[in-house]
Amino acid sequence: MANLVSHPDEVKVVSRRFGQGATNLDRYLELDGYKAVRKALEMGPDAIINEMKASNLRGRGGAGFPTGMKWSFVPKQSAKPKYVLCNGDESEPGTCKDRLIFEHDPHSVIEGAMIAAIAVGAHAAYIYIRGEYRYLLEIMQKAIADAYARGFCGKNIFGSGYDLEVYWHGGAGAYEVGEESALMESLEGKRGIPRIRPPFPAVVGLWGGPTVINNAETLASVPHIILMGGKQYAEIGVERNGGTRLFSLSGHVERPGVYELPLGFNLRKVIYEVGGGIANGHKLKAVVPGGSSVPCLKPEEIDVALDFDSMMKAGTMLGSGGIVVIDDHTCIVKFALRTIQFYRHESCGWCIPCREGTDWLSKSLRRFHAGAGVAQDIDNIRYLAENMLGRTFCPLGDAAAMPIIGFIKKFREEFEAHLDGRPCPFGQHAASALPVLSH
Ligand code: SF4
Repeated sequence: MANLVSHPDEVKVVSRRFGQGATNLDRYLELDGYKAVRKALEMGPDAIINEMKASNLRGRGGAGFPTGMKWSFVPKQSAKPKYVLCNGDESEPGTCKDRLIFEHDPHSVIEGAMIAAIAVGAHAAYIYIRGEYRYLLEIMQKAIADAYARGFCGKNIFGSGYDLEVYWHGGAGAYEVGEESALMESLEGKRGIPRIRPPFPAVVGLWGGPTVINNAETLASVPHIILMGGKQYAEIGVERNGGTRLFSLSGHVERPGVYELPLGFNLRKVIYEVGGGIANGHKLKAVVPGGSSVPCLKPEEIDVALDFDSMMKAGTMLGSGGIVVIDDHTCIVKFALRTIQFYRHESCGWCIPCREGTDWLSKSLRRFHAGAGVAQDIDNIRYLAENMLGRTFCPLGDAAAMPIIGFIKKFREEFEAHLDGRPCPFGQHAASALPVLSH
């Protein structure tokens, strides 16, 4: 079981049942469980979707697409069955918040998926959990079985006349399956590679039927929104960015952990107040604020609000909400190398810019870090990464390229310090000084 951390600045909405024994169905019911789905059945699809739109909830997986709008794209009439799919394939480095939801509050995900299904007229919901989270599958399996035993799932839920089946599914361990169309391929029993779009899942998704896919944190937020009202939820956050977010704070901070904070919370405060500052009396060198897939920020750039729009303006992205803090004892070249090695390993190999680009970047950075680089390599690495952008089937190509471009732009002098056969200025054991990327 993961340790829970807490801070007075937190606003606990999604995490309010963590540590409260809510994996037990009776306890979940005591804590207002399954009230929202009963309310949703009375409200009906249009009112649910309007409430979601009012909440300004945006997808917590990384893309930040407005959830209510996504649900409204599903056609009301469909010859094929409709589906709701929970994306619990949490694999982004530095991100470990869906794991806590499954561990402490699995019924909230089931309930959120049920409300989404009622909103779009689906009669089946699938909860897909990352392959490496094997122990969480047992928790989810039991939660679904308990909900069936009480008649909350299956035929005629809560005596409403509405039928809704809920299933769980375990992945096989691939970062790529976090991409929604690859996840659908995997769930259909095929190799987890992306589909060409359009058509989009809302129209042609799982088994060709209209499908809503939402991240686990997004779905776990839904029952709270239905109970408190969309407007009240929106007011917790900032304009166009409603509610809270579970931020996974890792790396060189005194108090790493998962903290639930309102959207719009200041990044500097997260690091220095919530996280207790940089560990071991060191200084901040950089922050990767959205998992590992986004450009880093330098210390002078961290007075920025943690919401989707402010982060875009700052030249980076909120992404998965994984904040990786890097101290001044860390070699950025080595960090860039470790980052690209991850993407090289996870590339599904389908398209050339990603398959070859991640391999060449990995080889170039390894050689460069070892002191065998020449000055032209720095621009070549950047040129190679820039030519991957927007040229791949799925976002993994961009996810691999963007951090590398950012590191070269912002820490060019550190790359130059590795030239002319000089050893890494951070010593032979720089690898051991890297922040631990939990994923
Ligand atoms: Fe596969 Fe990479 Fe292409 Fe995505 S970008 S489809 S992971 S090769």
